[in-house]
Amino acid sequence: MKKFFAAVVTIIFVTTAFATVLASNYVGNANTRRFHYASCRSVNKMNPSNKVYMNTREEAINAGYIPCKRCKP
Ligand SMILES: [Zn+2]
Repeated sequence: MKKFFAAVVTIIFVTTAFATVLASNYVGNANTRRFHYASCRSVNKMNPSNKVYMNTREEAINAGYIPCKRCKP
């Protein structure tokens, strides 16, 4: 039974972590004022201090961000 509970707790934890990542579909760069899909390669190269997480495209546009030319969000 202990193993079962450990498995359930692990699944809940992983699901919550996934949901948090998926909720941020877009990542803006506060330095270049461009925004990307969270899966864009540029996001990995971005300085973590410049990252701005956004849930919607409108949110990014309204904040004055320009869509990335590579991932075309
Ligand atoms: Zn991009």
